[in-house]
Amino acid sequence: MALNQLLLKHYHDLDQHGKVLATYIWIDGTGEGLRGKTKTLDKTPSSAAELPVWNFDGSSTGQSSGHNSDIYVKPVAIYKDPFMKAGNILVMCETLKPDDSPAETNHRDSCMKVMERCKDEKPWFGIEQEYTLMNLEGHPFGWPKNGYPGPQGPYYCSVGADRAYGRAIMEAHYKACLYAGIKICGTNAEVMPSQWEYQVGPCEGVSIGDELWVSRYILHRVCEDFGVVCSLDPKPLKGWNGAGAHCNYSTKAMREDGGIDVIHAAVEKLSKKQDQHIAWYDPYGGKDNARRLTGQHETADIKTFSSGVAHRGASIRIPRQVDKDKKGYLEDRRPSSNCDPYQVSEALLRTTVLDEWP
Ligand code: ADP
Ligand code: MN
Ligand code: MN
Ligand code: MN
Repeated sequence: MALNQLLLKHYHDLDQHGKVLATYIWIDGTGEGLRGKTKTLDKTPSSAAELPVWNFDGSSTGQSSGHNSDIYVKPVAIYKDPFMKAGNILVMCETLKPDDSPAETNHRDSCMKVMERCKDEKPWFGIEQEYTLMNLEGHPFGWPKNGYPGPQGPYYCSVGADRAYGRAIMEAHYKACLYAGIKICGTNAEVMPSQWEYQVGPCEGVSIGDELWVSRYILHRVCEDFGVVCSLDPKPLKGWNGAGAHCNYSTKAMREDGGIDVIHAAVEKLSKKQDQHIAWYDPYGGKDNARRLTGQHETADIKTFSSGVAHRGASIRIPRQVDKDKKGYLEDRRPSSNCDPYQVSEALLRTTVLDEWP
C-alpha cells in the first residue's frame, strides 16, 4: 500500500535535538542484496573509524546459522543521508564473523588489501550501472499489461512519455546521490524501455566499491518511495538487451602520454584470464552473466575473449578517443549489473598489475 509521503514531511521537520540517525548498510548473504538498520548517535562523526562496530542477526540474512547468529558490521565509509537529511548519515559497512574474519560475501576485505599493494599505480575505476524498473507484480514498469512495447530502437537516450518510462526515479536518484556525496557523473535511458543507466566515478581504489554499493542502496530506497522495484538482474527478459555494469579502468601509467602501450599490455594479460574474470563478475560465479553474455545485444560471448577500439560487441573496448589520444583507460564490458564492484576492481588489478590470482 502506498503511504502518503507528503504527510511524512511534517515528521521529518521535527527537531532532533542534536541527535544523529546513522543507517548502517551492508551486503547480505546473497552477495547482491543490501540490508540496513538505524541507530541514534549523540553527534556527527568526522570519519567512519569513529563509529561503533554493530551487529545483526545473520541467520535472517543468509549469513550464519541460528545457534551462532551474530554477524558484525564495521563502518568503512559515511555519506549524507538524502532521505532523512538534517545531518543524518548513511554508513557503508563490511561484515565480519565473530572471530573478526570477513563474512562469506565480504569481498571488500581482500579488495582493500590488493588496493593497498597497488596504491602507487593510482588505479581509477568508473562503473556504468544499468538497472531495470519493475512494478510490484514483477512486470517491467510501464509496459503494456498484455504483450510488449514496440521493438528496441527509440528508447536509448530517449525523451517522451511513450519511450522514457520512469524518468522521475532516475532524476530523484541522481539528486539524492549528489546530496549524499557520491561521485555520480552521468545518466541515460537505455536500449530496453524502463531500463536506465547511471555512472559513478572515476573513483580511486576501494572507494569505487563503497560508492557504488551506497548508490545502489539509494536507488532501491528511491524506488521504494515511488512504489516501484529496481531489478539488477543481468537479463530480465530474453530477446531484449540485458543489464551490465561496464567497468572503466586506468592506472597512472595508462593516463600519461603514450599510456596506450600500457593499455594494450593490460588487454593482452586480460585475454589470458577470461575464466577467472567471468567467475568474479557476477555473484553466482558466471551463471547469471551466462544469460546475458551471449554474443548478441551488444555483448561478447561468455566463452570468448575479444577486444577492439570502439567495439561494443567486445569483452574489452578501447574508447575511440583513447585510441586517438594514445592514453586514457579501457572499458571492461563483462561485469553484470549485479556484480560486486569490490571483486571486479580487485580482479582487474590482480591480472593487469600483480600477475597473481589466489
Ligand atoms: P560509455 O561510452 O561506455 O557509455 P559512459 O560515459 O557511460 O561510457 O561511462 C564512462 C565511465 O568511464 C564513467 O564512469 C567515468 O567515470 C569513467 N572514466 C572516465 N575516465 C576514466 C579513467 N581515466 N579511468 C577510469 N574510469 C574513467
Ligand atoms: Mn554508458
Ligand atoms: Mn549502457
Ligand atoms: Mn559502456
